[in-house]
Amino acid sequence: MAKALVLEEKRKLALREIDLPATVGSGDVRISVDTVGVCGSDVHYYTHGKIGPFVVKAPMVLGHEASGVVTEIGADVTNLTVGDRVCMEPGIPNPASKASKLGVYNVDPDVQFWATPPVHGCLTPSVVHPAAFTYRLPDNVSFAEGAMVEPFAIGMQAAARAKIKPGDVALVTGAGPIGVMCALAALAGGCAKVFITDLVEQKLQVAAQYDNVEPILVPQDDVSKTLQDATEGWGADVVIECAGAAASIQTALEAVAPSGCVVWVGMPVDPVPVDIVLAQSKEIRMETVFRYANMYDRAIALIGSGKVDLKPLISETFAFQHSIDAFDRAVEARPSDVKIQIKVGQS
Ligand code: NAD
Ligand code: ZN
Repeated sequence: MAKALVLEEKRKLALREIDLPATVGSGDVRISVDTVGVCGSDVHYYTHGKIGPFVVKAPMVLGHEASGVVTEIGADVTNLTVGDRVCMEPGIPNPASKASKLGVYNVDPDVQFWATPPVHGCLTPSVVHPAAFTYRLPDNVSFAEGAMVEPFAIGMQAAARAKIKPGDVALVTGAGPIGVMCALAALAGGCAKVFITDLVEQKLQVAAQYDNVEPILVPQDDVSKTLQDATEGWGADVVIECAGAAASIQTALEAVAPSGCVVWVGMPVDPVPVDIVLAQSKEIRMETVFRYANMYDRAIALIGSGKVDLKPLISETFAFQHSIDAFDRAVEARPSDVKIQIKVGQS
């Protein structure tokens, strides 16, 4: 038995003892969890009890954005040792699946992802995880930053799918946590400038504290015109859509340059009509993102190099015993909040 933050059912959280698997297999490590970030999906399971087809039918431990310290290694583990500071990739595919063999393990239909029902998450003091999905943190990367690698990996996947070229001008629609991560990954990937939209001024202020990130407040400011003015009338080389709203999806297609690329990251709750002819008339390329594959090493390398600083995005940290307060804060988020974290460890 171990103490964990358990979602009992919609709107009901408990910090209580629960039976969790604890056997360290030959390829596994045991990790003392240090820091866990609260994600929009955790909050959605709390408030709605489901996301699309994933329904919480039995008590489930929340949390999937985590860092910690290795405390035990399986007999066949060679890449890690006891005492290593690490972060964990929360989605474990079947290594024999066709998706894994193709290198696209994020779209393995059988992937087991922390805190996606019925799989328990990591808001508990100790977890067992495959060593192959556990990554050592450089000494200069804190546990708090380590727990930010998961959302940053989504931005990295978007930047990689966009095939950014040095000097590209990008537009990101939606300045929530994912939009900001995409903007930072786009800059790290070579963009000269990233414009970012939102309906909320405070969201834009957080994003615009970074050099070369230019805020656009909608609907007041004209997004397409701003991009045209910045590109001699050509438009955005890359658009990364991160709001998941019908209006911003249309904006993405309008603001993208001829032959440019739109990356769909935002997930509309209901299906949204898409202006195919507008896309065709510019012969744009469209890409989609579902989480990430093979991005953790790259994300950690960028954070460790100092090229990407995620520390300003950590809004508040709650102690493990106040995990429910952390979730209630995330539900009633302040406009300037980006990431709420929970400190599970004692370090
Ligand atoms: P969020 O709700 O915190 O952020 C969305 C932001 O978009 C908000 O700040 C909101 O004010 C803004 N917005 C809404 N309508 C807008 C509009 N018309 N124009 C400009 N901005 C607008 O969500 P998040 O956690 O940042 O996630 C963003 C999206 O990415 C969500 O749809 C989420 O489901 C999705 N997501 C996708 C993946 C993936 O793998 N594809 C992973 C994680 C999250
Ligand atoms: Zn997340």
